Amino acid sequence: MAEVIEIEAGWRVDLGGSTAVFTLAQTRSEGQSLDLAMTNPQRDGHIAQVLKEHGLEGFGIAAINQVHGTAVSEWRESAEVMDADAVLVAQTGVAAVAVAADCLPVILASEGGVVAVHVGWRGLAAGVLECAVEAIRHRCDESAVVAALGPCAGVCCYEVSAEVLSACGAAASSVSGHLDLRGEASARLKSLGVRTVAVVDQCTICSDADRFFSYRRQHGTLGRQGVVAWLN
Ligand SMILES: [Zn+2]
Repeated sequence: MAEVIEIEAGWRVDLGGSTAVFTLAQTRSEGQSLDLAMTNPQRDGHIAQVLKEHGLEGFGIAAINQVHGTAVSEWRESAEVMDADAVLVAQTGVAAVAVAADCLPVILASEGGVVAVHVGWRGLAAGVLECAVEAIRHRCDESAVVAALGPCAGVCCYEVSAEVLSACGAAASSVSGHLDLRGEASARLKSLGVRTVAVVDQCTICSDADRFFSYRRQHGTLGRQGVVAWLN
């Protein structure tokens, strides 16, 4: 397993050729907002701050308009921001970003590429992870893709309908009527031959209220934490 290291902005995972940072709602010591929602005009500045903590400046940002679908966007200079739930970056100097508030942020990493994925139950059911794995294998290294999974609604709190459980093809979870989103994602990745090498095992709903944005706890908050990842 890759080491998960606490940093000011959240948690860093070193994935060999790439690095992923799973962010908090605010910085640990100063409590400065890290709201990465697309609607937040400060978003790019917050991402730049995360990168600066690693001595990286002047990066491009590979963004997506997340729509709970399965499309994968590959970042290209001056291309429009696409409706997609995964964004692939295959060059240095650009950060792949996906955001969430109870949904699961995932990083897939391979030789020469990273993909940031937004995985909610709809995306999971529709196959966004399968599409993202196919995209990175097609674009980059065929064989060795690894995954890092971030904070999301935990099985402790994520009560869903029988229809949602069925749509996700979810195995019986440790809490009846609850979806283990992270566990299901990890199982799907494993079945695709992708090893999960790091997990930030935090529940966005029942953690300290100022730690994460939570759509459920805050009844539709606009704030988002997320993942920022780049090729080293
Ligand atoms: Zn919980």
